[in-house]
Amino acid sequence: MRILIAEDDELIADALMRSLKRAGYAVDHAATGTEADAALASQQYDLLVLDLGLPRMSGIEVLQRLRNRKSTCPVLILTARDAVQDRVSGLDAGADDYLTKPFALPELEARVRALTRRGTGQGRVVMLGPLRYDQADRSVTIDGHMLDLSARETGVLEVLLLRAGRLVSKEHLVDHLCGWGEEVSLNAIEVYVHRLRKKLESCVDGSLKITTVRGLGYCLEKPDVTANM
Ligand code: CA
Repeated sequence: MRILIAEDDELIADALMRSLKRAGYAVDHAATGTEADAALASQQYDLLVLDLGLPRMSGIEVLQRLRNRKSTCPVLILTARDAVQDRVSGLDAGADDYLTKPFALPELEARVRALTRRGTGQGRVVMLGPLRYDQADRSVTIDGHMLDLSARETGVLEVLLLRAGRLVSKEHLVDHLCGWGEEVSLNAIEVYVHRLRKKLESCVDGSLKITTVRGLGYCLEKPDVTANM
């Protein structure tokens, strides 16, 4: 899941980025409206957190341009507490939800979870054989037992799981796991996959396998349901 934060206030942007990264999202930051507009025109995001009071280009204009490009990316706008008209304009321009400043981070995280869920259309829970992944709290269980994964390992699993049975390139994993300026090498991806594979193997009898396709990427195999019949 990749989120763009368009916010010119450095303190707020920093706090947002830290909290969303901790929750396991890949996060990019744009400090002006034009930067946000350029990023949105060139990349696919799962959510835009948009401050309406941005320099260079207003948040409303960023939003209008996004919707003119027929993007369905969910948008959460940030407005000042008393700016009722701003909220109305934002929702009219195609925002999905709003938060008024100042807000508590847990509230922001809850809105982000709700909006990214809606955006993916994947539903809340993804099942694969004995594995159950809850997108709401990013928990993973196998046969009902909680699997202890780091935020990065969970991110890798999520990407592989949503494309189970298909090849996922390392570059695609890097794209989904990292924001701008974050150095995550292809080697690091190998390490996350290796750890994830070990943890999956320790829990299941080989029915959940991550296959390495040399030089190309990885594939989380769909369990063969006919194997034991
Ligand atoms: Ca601002």
